[in-house]
Amino acid sequence: MKRRDWFRAGAAAPLMMGLEAEVLAGASTGMKVATRTRRLNLKHTWTTVMSSSQYRDTFYVEISKDGLTGVGEGAPIIRYKESAETCDAAVKAIVPWLEQQDPRAFQKVMAGVFQKIEGNWAGKAAVDIALMDWVGQKMQTPVWRLFGVDKADTPVTVFSIGIDKAEVVRQKVREAEAFPVLKVKVGLDNDEEVIGAVRAETKKPLRADANEGFKSKEQAVEKINWLEKQGVEFIEQPLPAANLEDMNWIRKRVHIPIIADEACLHPADIPRLAPHFDGVNVKIDKCGGLLEGWRMIQMARALGLKVMLGCMVSSSVAITGAAQLTPMVDYCDLDGMMLISNDPYEGVLVERGKLILSDRPGLGLKPRKA
Ligand code: MG
Repeated sequence: MKRRDWFRAGAAAPLMMGLEAEVLAGASTGMKVATRTRRLNLKHTWTTVMSSSQYRDTFYVEISKDGLTGVGEGAPIIRYKESAETCDAAVKAIVPWLEQQDPRAFQKVMAGVFQKIEGNWAGKAAVDIALMDWVGQKMQTPVWRLFGVDKADTPVTVFSIGIDKAEVVRQKVREAEAFPVLKVKVGLDNDEEVIGAVRAETKKPLRADANEGFKSKEQAVEKINWLEKQGVEFIEQPLPAANLEDMNWIRKRVHIPIIADEACLHPADIPRLAPHFDGVNVKIDKCGGLLEGWRMIQMARALGLKVMLGCMVSSSVAITGAAQLTPMVDYCDLDGMMLISNDPYEGVLVERGKLILSDRPGLGLKPRKA
């Protein structure tokens, strides 16, 4: 008689009541999933071509089992028709299913999450990061080790300077003194004023992000060649995401690499973009998690593209999640948690721009005291 049949047959029933409950609890996973939204306050009003704001609401998932809790975060992107509310509703709807899964089978769990949730990429990212944090803690290993990377290979992250008046830009550049490379948002009418203000403060290398803001291919060429003279190393997304046909016309007339960002959301986008760009900007919030981000990095590498790992404005949870993949990439823009004043966690550290990954299990996050 099998052990379970023996239980069911009622042998030693009084003794087994407790034992059977234990066995059955072992058969289900006992995983608990909680969701929440946090309002993150920006240190400076944040302006890009797309928007201007003083705070961001990001979405968090906590996965608990065996006395361990994994935490994940995703920063919803309005452009992709998602918000903290829609992500919360989407993840809550699958909690009964999620709580029946075995988090150790994280790849299988995330495949199920991708089947069950439409859109809401930041919601998927929060689940994925929470799962990986839990798995790392369970396996007593930092998450970056699960990807087989060397933490010594993390690149330097840029610090981003948002579009602003000249004196505010100069102040932001002074505050970013510790960062060896800066990223400047361009694509509005005051590009010369912004770059001029940056150059009045520093000679550091710059990277530029137009966020689709240039008005034509001719303007893009003129601006990019001017930016190169200002010490800009590469530029992100000069034209609208859908415009691929003009990209090679531009690339024949400029010297610095052009990186796709808004055009590049998911692994399947990359083969289509490869003939038109020099590299892609992978963001965990856009693609739906570390596993999908890893796929994008591999896809881009297979196609000979440069890889940048970027972020949205978010706390140390999402940034520390993304940071686990940075030893695999060329360029890094993971400054989102440094743009806010109420980060609820301490995670990846940044020393003179270099990302320092923790050796603690999981993401190694520590809650900050309020
Ligand atoms: Mg960008």
